[in-house]
Amino acid sequence: MADYNIGKAFERIENELISSMMGNLKHHKTEETKEGFQWSQWQVEQLKALENYKKQNKEKFSEEFLNINENIGSAIEKAYEQGGMDQEIKILKALQKGYTGYTHKFSGSADVSGEFFKVNERKINELINATVKDMEKAETAVLRMANDKYRKIIFDAQVYANAGGTTYEKAVDMATHDFLSAGINCIEYKNGARHTISDYADMAIKTANKRAYLRGEGTKRAEWGIHTVIVNKRGNACPLCLPFVGKVLIDDVYSGGSSKDGKYPLLSTAISQGFLHPRCKDSYTTYFEGISIPPKDEELTQDDIEIVKEQTVLNHKKQNAEKQAKRMDRLSKYSLDEENKKIYGVRSEQWKKQAGNYTEELKKSVEKSNDSGIIKSKEVETAVSDVHNVGKIDRRIYSCITKDIVTDEVIITDERIQHIKDHHPKDFERYYNYLKEIVTKPKYIIEANKPNSALILKSFSEGKEKFKTVLRIITSTDNIEFKNSIITFMKINEKEWKRLINNKKILYKSE
Ligand SMILES: [Zn+2]
Repeated sequence: MADYNIGKAFERIENELISSMMGNLKHHKTEETKEGFQWSQWQVEQLKALENYKKQNKEKFSEEFLNINENIGSAIEKAYEQGGMDQEIKILKALQKGYTGYTHKFSGSADVSGEFFKVNERKINELINATVKDMEKAETAVLRMANDKYRKIIFDAQVYANAGGTTYEKAVDMATHDFLSAGINCIEYKNGARHTISDYADMAIKTANKRAYLRGEGTKRAEWGIHTVIVNKRGNACPLCLPFVGKVLIDDVYSGGSSKDGKYPLLSTAISQGFLHPRCKDSYTTYFEGISIPPKDEELTQDDIEIVKEQTVLNHKKQNAEKQAKRMDRLSKYSLDEENKKIYGVRSEQWKKQAGNYTEELKKSVEKSNDSGIIKSKEVETAVSDVHNVGKIDRRIYSCITKDIVTDEVIITDERIQHIKDHHPKDFERYYNYLKEIVTKPKYIIEANKPNSALILKSFSEGKEKFKTVLRIITSTDNIEFKNSIITFMKINEKEWKRLINNKKILYKSE
């Protein structure tokens, strides 16, 4: 969950910074006298406003930044633990299926693993420290850039005004144009490209969480002396990672394998060639020789590769259109001149439409790749960034739905989150924190209209806030990699609450 919130949190901060600056520029308009607009007086006032702006932002955001940084640390730690737990389950399942390729007989037995565990703990701490340190630098940079840009705008506006033939609004719009167009792009990447802090945070945190997760898995593998992994195929593969799909590698990075472990290439070599680059969505799973899907079946056909290429292009186009729409939105929202506002508004709509078209095309393409079987291993995507832990259920409570419950873990996928956001605006952001308690301590469980699904009712704030949640329970006939998952979640009113309790079959009621 955390990776998801942090990008958004920074986006909100950026918007606040821009909005209060533009508010100052809009309202601190000096009276026009007979001699015309008093630009030098205006400038003095704006510079005063800037000093205030600096001070206020520093006070306002320091604490928020601290909070965010703490969250980053705990998210990385959690991803690490999750990786270990998930891996253990997978290993035990492989053992059940008859896997014998491990070298240590019992989990956690060898001293090697104890040493290795310590090394990995240290590496996780290093990862947390480095990520937080970079984020602190970015946080300083975002405030500094907002201040610098504000100062520049104050001076530029006067320059444009002095050139003559323009209104106050138009002069300010000219001065703010480049800033509004680019946003607060205070982070410069090695290749010279500039990014906003929200963009950067999103990338940095996803990458760190993924590494922590992989290290958690690796630690568990090391305990068992298993070192082989396989790069799974999936829809939407990254071009950089394509050459590695279907390849078995020896994990010498996270589980201490070496070239002595077999004839396969090393994970470190693949990484040095670009595999698992930042923003990478590809991943690998442990390769249990004789038990896992054989490499031949993970390889991509020429058709698959064509589809992947098509999706890469569409993805780029879609992202670009979304970015342009955001730029135009900012310009439309904050331009002072009415005509400018309108022009940018129209452009924003055009870009949004474009983005929508690309999204549709992409959807079709993904369906095509589903048919062609690219997405065989859903596990990769769900294991890393697209799934968020919600909590654990008490199997006794949910035995009213089915006795065949294979896991007590509950997750929610990004896809479902998007669904909830689309259908019940704001519910998700506002009430997400309730989900854990809803599933762990339901008030009512009511028969749902789908098999192995629970309709959960629960109220908060002394009954003032009521919620309906549907949870899909995973049974032994489902894919073993899946977990119980939230299908939907919404706030309901008293009437709906009563309707459900009075007209449907109640399977469970808490005391
Ligand atoms: Zn990749």
